Amino acid sequence: MNNISKKYNKYYHKDKNIFELSLINYDSLNLYIRLDYSKKENLFFIRYLNILGHKFNIKNTNQVTLSNELGSLIVSILQQLTNTELDDTNETNTDLVCFTSNINKKHIEYKFNSFIPLKAIILGDIFYYLFDSMPFKYHSIFAKLIAKINNTDYKYTYKMPFKFDLYREKLDKVFSASTIQKGEECYKLEKVRFLERIQDSYYATVEGENGLYTVIVDYDNKTRTTTLACSCPYEYFCKHMYAVIKSIRNKETYKYYKVRYVEENADMYNKMFSQHYYLCLGIVDDKIIILLPDGSMKRLFVYDKSNNPMFEVVEEDEEHTLSKKIKELG
Ligand SMILES: [Zn+2]
Repeated sequence: MNNISKKYNKYYHKDKNIFELSLINYDSLNLYIRLDYSKKENLFFIRYLNILGHKFNIKNTNQVTLSNELGSLIVSILQQLTNTELDDTNETNTDLVCFTSNINKKHIEYKFNSFIPLKAIILGDIFYYLFDSMPFKYHSIFAKLIAKINNTDYKYTYKMPFKFDLYREKLDKVFSASTIQKGEECYKLEKVRFLERIQDSYYATVEGENGLYTVIVDYDNKTRTTTLACSCPYEYFCKHMYAVIKSIRNKETYKYYKVRYVEENADMYNKMFSQHYYLCLGIVDDKIIILLPDGSMKRLFVYDKSNNPMFEVVEEDEEHTLSKKIKELG
């Protein structure tokens, strides 16, 4: 990042840099933002660079002009910042935020992960004006940055365990009113197609607008901590998770098929003692859908080139739906 800063300073050397902000691997984004003041033009500029590759051209930097009132306001807020070290940072390389400013010849440097620490709450004001002036697509970054300040940081760490009684606690502690409404609908329309507890996790497959999504719910009964994850593109606690929790609470189970992969050269001994099986959602068109432990789905051919089945059914419904379908394909 220093490198980028140097290049900027070379190119805009007549401008005064007010502050720099680097977001490193922040929600998979690498963003370098700075506020500069041009004495010549008597204007404040926000310049920013979305660093995807290693090639970047300072001349083609995105630039937003700020009003002088807003620029001066940011400077006055900055002046309130003290040079206190933040002692609670445990920096990691993802979601890292570096903020530096040299206002009044006083070097201020803050580093933190994910959320503005409460101690540096004043940065929230600065970032508010900053991101408000930037394109809408970056606003979600601001929402995340201030999540600790407005007490919504749980939204951004939902893939981490959090204190929540999976079976009893009120669902509006986690889900928003609109998600609850959509989740209720999802539940009532029986969109939860598969749901099964396997060891300490619940695996579920929910039918969404654009295909099937996997929801994985881990629950630690002792500590009453829940971990939720959904493969849908919605960012936070989603309606699919809601519908699955509702099904879990109503003690519903919709078993997956279980299949074993028949290795072409496996001898009988290996076949007998191979305990490994896969969760299976069934057959769509001529492919079998396998659910991998990480929640991703694989669509595979059922038969090999010599027309031998590559999967054997370990567990299925009483009607032998899967076995029948496999036979039909042969
Ligand atoms: Zn979802």
